[in-house]
Amino acid sequence: MIPYGKQSISQDDIDAVVDVLKSDWLTQGPKVPEFESAISNYCGAQHACATNSATSALHIACLALGVAKNDSVWTSPISFVASANCALYCGATIDFVDIDLETGNMSVNALENKLKAAKENNCLPKVVIPVHLAGQSCNMQAIHKLALKYDFKIIEDASHAIGAKYLGKQVGCCEFSDITVFSFHPVKIITSAEGGMAVTNVQKLAKRLKRLRSHGITSDPAEMTEPSHGPWYYQQIELGFNYRMTDLQAALGLSQLNEMNSFIIKRNELAGIYNDNLTHSNLIHLKQSVNHYSSYHLYIMRLVNSDSKHHKSVICHMRESGINAHVHYIPIHLQPYYKSLGFKLGDYPNAERFYNQAITLPLHPTLAPEQQDKVIQTLKNYLIKTIITTKV
Ligand SMILES: *Cc1c(COP(=O)(O)O)cnc(C)c1O
Repeated sequence: MIPYGKQSISQDDIDAVVDVLKSDWLTQGPKVPEFESAISNYCGAQHACATNSATSALHIACLALGVAKNDSVWTSPISFVASANCALYCGATIDFVDIDLETGNMSVNALENKLKAAKENNCLPKVVIPVHLAGQSCNMQAIHKLALKYDFKIIEDASHAIGAKYLGKQVGCCEFSDITVFSFHPVKIITSAEGGMAVTNVQKLAKRLKRLRSHGITSDPAEMTEPSHGPWYYQQIELGFNYRMTDLQAALGLSQLNEMNSFIIKRNELAGIYNDNLTHSNLIHLKQSVNHYSSYHLYIMRLVNSDSKHHKSVICHMRESGINAHVHYIPIHLQPYYKSLGFKLGDYPNAERFYNQAITLPLHPTLAPEQQDKVIQTLKNYLIKTIITTKV
């Protein structure tokens, strides 16, 4: 089966992890801060906090921004469930903003309309979490403008988008957000096996993130509420978690970072080959906006003339042909758990339409030319053969 995504691990990566295994520190050693500095330097952000996953980074990012009971957080329905779950962990309510069909990203128009209505009803969100689908940044400048007008905070879920650029700057520079979160799950651009990172330009937020990552414990005398008992002393001053990244993971992430730019160039090349060779009246590529450079975590297309039955038959045919075509994403609001919270079919029409049309094709730096060719030919031949019965 040709996978839709796959990690690339080099001998250098293996050596880096083995070195840590032979060192004094498997966790809470020097590799984690080294990885944090490398990522914050790369992105042009001031601070970074490594975690054991992007999911934990999203959770403590919400907490650091003060998300609590009675607050509302908004995100995109076309994302992985973690983008929404983080709000619920904080006891807040979650709501969704419909997407722009052409990019799959949060629609700025839909956001503005929803904000106007929320202002009248006195239920503005505390935090909005735009998700950079497939590695292309959302329109952050416009979302940031709305944040100033309607007074909400922004967490960029850039789980797909490390190495991407927006208006000439790296995603993660946080010019238009409070915190940006990356994932280093093996299917993403670079991996630390499991792992995540929150970056920010606000020192106070960085401090809070690091405290929440490690049980809510501080060893900074300035934060303590009573005098030190001695050199062993620390204080727990709030309820935190063990969301720490290990030094093994950080060493792998650091080593992977050396290859990241070449991974992204390769991903863009392969995407270009799909763009050039997959031309069919039923296929639309995700629109790439000007001044956006995608990291191409995913290659998503839309089958614009297919009904959901034909869409399903295309994916099944690809899988039967040994190609792990995928669908990103099942709209979060249609997950049974979210339905139990009151969301229902029809709530976000563009997201639902996107789901019925989207197909993710294999894309990773080790995808061989003959594999990519097989993907292209299999998809094209099937589309030519199958009669499209329903025009949408
Ligand atoms: C992968 C992913 C996450 C979660 O990342 P983990 O590191 O696996 O916790 C969150 N949001 C999006 C958009 C993702 O793709």
